[in-house]
Formats: sequence, C-alpha cells, structure tokens
Amino acid sequence: MLNTTEPTQPETIVSLKGVRKRFGKNEVLRGIEIDVIRGEVVAIIGRSGSGKSTALRCMDYLETIDDGSITVCGHRVNDKTNLKALRLDVGIVFQSYNLFPHLTVEENIMLAPKAVKRLPKREAKELAHRMLREVGLTDKAEQFPEQLSGGQQQRVAIARSLAMQPKVMLFDEVTSALDPQLTGEVLRVIENLARGGMTMIMVTHEMNFARRIADTIIFMHEGTIWEKGPPSMLNNPQTVELKEFLQNEL
Ligand code: ADP
Ligand code: MG
Repeated sequence: MLNTTEPTQPETIVSLKGVRKRFGKNEVLRGIEIDVIRGEVVAIIGRSGSGKSTALRCMDYLETIDDGSITVCGHRVNDKTNLKALRLDVGIVFQSYNLFPHLTVEENIMLAPKAVKRLPKREAKELAHRMLREVGLTDKAEQFPEQLSGGQQQRVAIARSLAMQPKVMLFDEVTSALDPQLTGEVLRVIENLARGGMTMIMVTHEMNFARRIADTIIFMHEGTIWEKGPPSMLNNPQTVELKEFLQNEL
C-alpha cells in the first residue's frame, strides 16, 4: 500500500509501454501501458480472455511480446534479459500451487534459497520458518502438501515465493480454486503483505478485496486498458463494459 508520507521520489518498479502480444492472428494485448511505483498495489480486473494473465506473464518473461517494452525492477524484459536476475526480483503465484508433493512444506520453501542463493541448509530452514510465520503456518513445516487444505497450500506457495525476498509480487487469481473460507485466509495473507509495503500486481475476481487494498484498479477489456483509477472508479463506471462487468460480478 502506498506510503503517502514518504518524502523520497516514487520509484517505478514495473513499466509497460505500448505492449502488444499476438498468439497467431489473435492479438491479445493491444498497446498496454502500466506504471507501478514502489509500494503500490494494483488490481487487474476484467472478463475471462481479456488478456490479464498474459499481461502478468509478460512481466516475468513467461511470454515474449511482439511490440513495446517492459521494464521490471530495472531489468529490460526481452530476449537479452538475465532471467535469473529478473526472477530473483519477481515473485509470481498462480491459481495452482505447484508445490513438490514429495517434499515437506519447509523443504518446498528451502529449495530455491538453497539452490539459487546458495544458502546453507540451517539458514534456509530458519528462513522457511520465518516465512511460514508470515503466512500463519509454522505448525505445518514438517507436513506434506497433500496433508494441507487448498488454502494452506496456497499460503505455502506464497511463503515459498517470499523466501526469495522479491521486490514485486504478481498474483494471478490465486484464490479462484478455493471455497470462500479458504479464500479469506489467503486474502488476509496478501492484505498483510500489502500493508507491509510490498509492491504487488494482482489479477483478481475478489471485487471487495480489490476495493479495500488496491491503490489502483485496472479494468482490461479485449486486450486494452479500458478504465483505470482508484477503487472509487468502481462506484462510477465510465464505460458500459465496466458497468456490465461489475453487474455480472455481483
Ligand atoms: P485472462 O487471463 O484475462 O482470462 P488470458 O491472458 O489468459 O486472459 O488470455 C487472453 C487471450 O489469449 C485469450 O483469447 C486466450 O485464449 C489467448 N491465449 C492465452 N494464452 C495462449 C496461448 N499460450 N496460446 C494461444 N492463445 C492463448
Ligand atoms: Mg487469466
């Protein structure tokens, strides 16, 4: 969440300029402009197929772009990008948790710090337990993913991502597979992160959540940014498309 009392110049963490992306003849991003400053929480909303996931994936070079430019944490994201450096700075969490089933919760979290950051095992374990505290799961450290609920597994996935100390977190509909109660516990973790000052971009259908924690809402429609503004924009949609979208989400 933006710290409005901070005296320093805002630092741009993510910048997309004129981004275009095609899958074959299907142009799914048609000139996207997004600027996210440090500490900002951006929620991307929009109908299925509007290009939300593709936009997010392009930021972490999981998709290439056809035109425009993307800069994330000072890295120009293109075929010359140092992917390891980029992905040290960017955490990304999806709807599916993708935990390793044969590793315990703490081992899942220790894996990347050990392999990528060469952290000794003992330090990696301490780090894993700190991260588990952040997501309220210290008691699950030695369990296996299948022994956990979906909401708990998703919180482990978030802890695993946080263990790499990213500068920005990307969330793509991380609660879509969860029932309302489990959704709530995952959203609380994300809300705490936001209040702690983490820069984040999240694709979400949780309209009330977006309203409460986002600094900026981006409504995507047919591969373009159709409307953008503070959460109050949802009270007064300027386009029929946003109006209809909000009605359908109710
Ligand atoms: P959203 O996340 O808003 O639902 P997506 O970014 O997933 O939208 O998809 C936008 C469009 O791009 C859709 O028409 C989808 O079918 C298409 N698309 C996404 N990924 C691929 C892919 N790997 N290959 C071909 N088409 C894709
Ligand atoms: Mg999507």
